[in-house]
Amino acid sequence: MKYQVVIGLEVHTQLTTNTKIFCGCSTRFGAEPNSQTCPVCLGFPGALPVLNKKVVEYAIRAGLATNCSITKRNVFARKNYFYPDLPKGYQISQFDLPICQHGHLDIDIEGETRRIGITRIHMEEDAGKLVHADIPGVDDSCVDLNRACTPLLEIVSEPDMRSPDEAIAYLKKLHQIVMYLGICDGNLEEGSFRCDANVSLMPVGSSTFGTRAELKNINSFKFIKQAIEYEMERQAEILDEGGRIIQETRLFDPNTGTTRSMRGKEEAHDYRYFPDPDLVPIIISDEWIEEARGTLPELPEAKRARFMTDLALPEYDAEVLVASRELAQYFEDTFTLFPQAKTVSNWVMGEVTRALNDDGRSISDCPVTPALLADLLKLMEKGTISGKIAKTVFDEMYKSGKAPEKIVEEKGLVQVSDTGAIEAMIDEVLEKNPGQVAEYRGGKETLFGFFVGQVMRASKGKANPALVNEMLLKKLNG
Ligand SMILES: [Zn+2]
Repeated sequence: MKYQVVIGLEVHTQLTTNTKIFCGCSTRFGAEPNSQTCPVCLGFPGALPVLNKKVVEYAIRAGLATNCSITKRNVFARKNYFYPDLPKGYQISQFDLPICQHGHLDIDIEGETRRIGITRIHMEEDAGKLVHADIPGVDDSCVDLNRACTPLLEIVSEPDMRSPDEAIAYLKKLHQIVMYLGICDGNLEEGSFRCDANVSLMPVGSSTFGTRAELKNINSFKFIKQAIEYEMERQAEILDEGGRIIQETRLFDPNTGTTRSMRGKEEAHDYRYFPDPDLVPIIISDEWIEEARGTLPELPEAKRARFMTDLALPEYDAEVLVASRELAQYFEDTFTLFPQAKTVSNWVMGEVTRALNDDGRSISDCPVTPALLADLLKLMEKGTISGKIAKTVFDEMYKSGKAPEKIVEEKGLVQVSDTGAIEAMIDEVLEKNPGQVAEYRGGKETLFGFFVGQVMRASKGKANPALVNEMLLKKLNG
């Protein structure tokens, strides 16, 4: 490709406050339409907004976690436009004085670190939702204002990304951070984390950006990648034919994987921003910032580094374990009770994750608690059960939530370490397979695994594998 893509992203994250940004209505998702509304969020004349303090706290946290400076004097502004889902005829947002500015996030791309600038983060209210779906007996579109006035942070990046993969890496990192901070539930399908992408092309080697298209409201990582890739192709084709890109807003259609024009520059809104006279400026003190800093959890990057240096975990393990705060916590809680990092990591990344994926549960609902998992690993370490049996016990624990000792006892799964019993099993196996014994003794040593397998099978997986190996070797060679 002879063009370099330039990507900037605007992310809207819905905050997990219990109530809306300027009134006391609930923000719970999925309620009966228009049941979570009041004169303020319905935009009744004379109703006055009152700022939710929690929103400011969450915004400060987001700013600190993304290396931003926090603006001391904050002003809310009215962004004026008409749309049926916006009862007041304006959205309360921030304009020239956003709460966070000049931040950055570092992303890893093919072993290299790239720094992506964050221009600003500002607080604003969401609009309602138009419902065009078929409602029996209703021909018209309907409006649900439950979402009107729920708090959002808009996080605007610099146009620093140079490939769709970089854009996705940045988004995933940002997503991980807001989840760690506990300020957003991160649910892409419900629209809690959605993205606009500004995409343009310039000739490779150039430093002058081309005209950009803005791709609106995409709420899946996969779709964002598809949308950017489609847009790159579309723009390259136009440029190749000597055409010019028009500045416009485009919509991505997940069914066709294409984007189509929504409105051009000449139809762009003039929002006529002005300070909202109903809201006083918010002054953020140094104490308030420090207080918020004190509530920051250990962020994924720091956690990953600690897992690697303090616990000697491989980078891959550390990366997987910090994917979510809950998963990292599960690992650490288990590790506290069974301090062998790599063993715990193997089990969390292996059996635990597999079982959760199989039935679509999240780690916080895992029936095998860290305490139970640690008990299981202790049984294995003591030699009471073999590694293979431990997996069987784990599956049973996952199903029943029972303690591992109880399952081992009930099912008679205790590992056989009785040399007499193992010897009897070995003798029987050798007796039944004289041909293989002769071959082995004649030099075909690869058959050893076959004998081990036969003995383990005879013991129903309960024989101590180390003893089986040792004794078999003696018998066959002796
Ligand atoms: Zn309300």
